[in-house]
Amino acid sequence: MASPTKAELRKIPSIDELLRSDELSDVVQEFGRAHVLAAVQQSVADVRRRFDEGGSVDLTSNPAAHLAAKVREDLAQLITATPARVFNLTGTVIHTNLGRAPLPEEAIAAMEQAARYPSNLEFDLQRGRRGDRDTHLERLICSLTGAEAATVVNNNAAAVMLSLNTLALRKEVLVARGQLIEIGGSFRMPDIMKRAGAKLHEVGTTNRTHAHDYTDAIGRTTGLVMEVHTSNYLINGFTKAVPTSDLAKIAQQHVVPFMVDLGSGTLVKLEQFGLPNEATVADVVAAGADIVTFSGDKLLGGPQAGIVVGKAELIDRIKRNPMKRAMRMDKVSIVALRAVLQLYLDPQKVADKIPVLRMLNRSLADIERQAENLRPVVEQALGHTGRAEIVSCKSQVGSGALPTAETQSAGIAIKTSSSLSRLSAAFRQLPVPVIGRLTGNRFIMDLRCLDDTQTFVDQLKLLNVSGRSAQR
Ligand SMILES: *Cc1c(COP(=O)(O)O)cnc(C)c1O
Repeated sequence: MASPTKAELRKIPSIDELLRSDELSDVVQEFGRAHVLAAVQQSVADVRRRFDEGGSVDLTSNPAAHLAAKVREDLAQLITATPARVFNLTGTVIHTNLGRAPLPEEAIAAMEQAARYPSNLEFDLQRGRRGDRDTHLERLICSLTGAEAATVVNNNAAAVMLSLNTLALRKEVLVARGQLIEIGGSFRMPDIMKRAGAKLHEVGTTNRTHAHDYTDAIGRTTGLVMEVHTSNYLINGFTKAVPTSDLAKIAQQHVVPFMVDLGSGTLVKLEQFGLPNEATVADVVAAGADIVTFSGDKLLGGPQAGIVVGKAELIDRIKRNPMKRAMRMDKVSIVALRAVLQLYLDPQKVADKIPVLRMLNRSLADIERQAENLRPVVEQALGHTGRAEIVSCKSQVGSGALPTAETQSAGIAIKTSSSLSRLSAAFRQLPVPVIGRLTGNRFIMDLRCLDDTQTFVDQLKLLNVSGRSAQR
């Protein structure tokens, strides 16, 4: 595209003319004059700025039509549904960027009710007066974890923050050096600690921590002994960590509370899904932790939430922290969490009812069968642009749960004569975007999390690898 000359730029109609132009009349109808005016001003300013900077400006012979198209595109952004549904075929079951846990039907039904009608969220129906939103969850959480008391906040990051701020304000928190995690984004334990008003006291070395490292460090300035689940990495080789139950004893002997940030936190034994054995929340409570924090939307398979369980006296202090209000859970999430927790009351059905567990539980044979059915359909959609084959691959749990655990899975791998990035873009441009992963010279779709085969197949005819804009 050639840069426009000054004379061409002068051809840009005035903002007033543009607003009254035929090209924009229906847009004005739809979005109202104020929004269109702002968008037009922005588009014109963009063109002028790029021209001033000497860049190439895409102005056709009809500047009014060109600008109108830009304005239309800009405003259409406002009304697209987003975030929108995608297919998570990355092989990472709990994928933070893709919204983590899909919820069970029971939770979805409860959310709809809570969203539509007023509820007794903070109202005691028996006494007819103000109630507490935690009451809908506390007993249930206690039954499932064996804890004395519980409270909930927006997410586990908030649970950690609030617990530290309540229990260790202006005091020291002992943490093993090997557990000072960064989970991504800005969640780094040392920074959280600082913002929570607590002082980090690292003990031990990166690979080894002994009981005496804690007993040497513990004293009058210690507010909390903390264990952090090393969610997204593993320290291998010459290593030593102090077992949770031993840490609990050390803390108790020194009359200091002991907190465990479990991160993912599971309520069921994971060996049944072929995954490594992980301590459940109940195990950690039984081992003597005074406070345990974990996520609602990781292995638990529920909505975004941070759950804090532990000793009644400590939970009571946490609940009374004024910051709790700033982190409280929303009513729609509360009913969803309750519905999910209720499913855990029946251990027989839980693996079937909760999508995260169901997907982790899927047999390899089942996934392979699905791959065999889908391979020819995918290959047909590719036309002459590529070949599809069945591959064995490995799914992972994701979101910092079980960093190294992988489970055998199957998928469809595509080799293309076109570019790989164009191929993966074509899958992302489908009505329900398909997110796979690029490995070597192939685009791989791990089928472990594909439960709606029909929708997947139906839209494949729209796959456009060639890049020609048949449909957009
Ligand atoms: C994921 C994680 C968190 C943060 O939990 P969110 O639910 O993402 O807020 C905190 N600590 C650990 C160890 C984690 O794995």
